Amino acid sequence: MKHAFILVLITFCFQLKGYAGNFDQYFDKKSLRIDFILSGNAEFQTASLLQLRQEPTWGGPVKNLIDQFYYGGYYVNIYDPKSNQLIYSRGFNTLFEEWRSTEQAQSETQAWTNSVSVPFPKSTVVLDITARNKENMQFESILKMNIDPTSIFIDRGKLTDHPITQIQYKGDSADKIDLVFLGEGYTDQEQEKFIADAKRFTESLFKTPPFAAYQDDFNVSAVSLISEESGTDFSGKGIFKHTALNAGFYTFGVDRYLTTPDMKSIRDAVWNVPCDAIFILVNTETYGGGGMYNFYAIGSADNARTIEVFVHEFGHSFGGLADEYFSSEVAYDEEYYNLNHEPWEPNITTLVDFNSKWKDMLPTNTPVPTPLEKPFSDKIGVFEGAGYMSKGIYRPADHCMMRDLVPFCPVCSRAIVRMIHFLSDREY
Ligand SMILES: [Zn+2]
Repeated sequence: MKHAFILVLITFCFQLKGYAGNFDQYFDKKSLRIDFILSGNAEFQTASLLQLRQEPTWGGPVKNLIDQFYYGGYYVNIYDPKSNQLIYSRGFNTLFEEWRSTEQAQSETQAWTNSVSVPFPKSTVVLDITARNKENMQFESILKMNIDPTSIFIDRGKLTDHPITQIQYKGDSADKIDLVFLGEGYTDQEQEKFIADAKRFTESLFKTPPFAAYQDDFNVSAVSLISEESGTDFSGKGIFKHTALNAGFYTFGVDRYLTTPDMKSIRDAVWNVPCDAIFILVNTETYGGGGMYNFYAIGSADNARTIEVFVHEFGHSFGGLADEYFSSEVAYDEEYYNLNHEPWEPNITTLVDFNSKWKDMLPTNTPVPTPLEKPFSDKIGVFEGAGYMSKGIYRPADHCMMRDLVPFCPVCSRAIVRMIHFLSDREY
């Protein structure tokens, strides 16, 4: 009985940690890029394969192959079919997932392009892309198939070689977090401005805690993309610009929500550069941006509050952080979070499973929920109002980068540091 228990325990630990350190057994240091369509509406979604590509670099971890954060609306899982062992996994979110919460998704069915990259397998593997069911928060398979790495149906061709400027190089990409800036709405004559903007954003990121203490863990590069026209789309004002990545304001009808649905062009732009995180700099003065976890972050380059917006959006895309504000205009049709379940983001809670969040960081004798008054209001607490909802959902501090663009609260900072450790192949 005891032996059985130990065996179960060992098996459990193995599954939790995956085959840490066994990258070479299963993978080459190249990427398998998987482009797929997500289609559906508020009620359902399905996934279909669009293309497979072999790409020349792998910038992700080589030890932390199994993602145990369980952030995001989706997971990409790779299994060894011989042992059924999970050998790689990573969570992510998509803009399509947000769209499914809008009023439009009540009456329309749409198809959106998405893309994930995994390390390139040495032999046949099973790909399983799963999506989180908001009714029970569990992941369900939406695209499952065998992938033979020698298949003639994998595109191994080159794409356009865009100029790559290394803004900061701190070491081998396997041990470092590779942050890539992409220029959107910069014409041929504006490429120097793009590099200057990317350098300015890099400097500001590493002046911001907790990133400031981890500058040596990041490689930063900038990929120069030439847009035919300067600026970006304002569809609500009838302004459309011919640009490299098809970005625009008025996402889901919200004037300051700046995104692009064109994931294929984004992944084409980074095909030959190691890439853990993408930030799209949009050549405009208008306030706005967006960020989806392990998808991309995007923001305007020249607004007065640009630097704070950049760090806020990077908090979403890099740290998996939720918005802590609750009174602003958003496009979501109903309550964005299901109050019957604990949300996956580390910096908000419905108190359904608060133990899994920042309970260990609460000062002793802090009431839960925490009243917004002295002596509690300037410490870590459980304050009502977050995630676009004023009731039933709680944030860890009254003020934070994820609410009103002041420094990150300690809970958000801890989540960011854990992600830095994960992506730089340390214990997290
Ligand atoms: Zn926070």
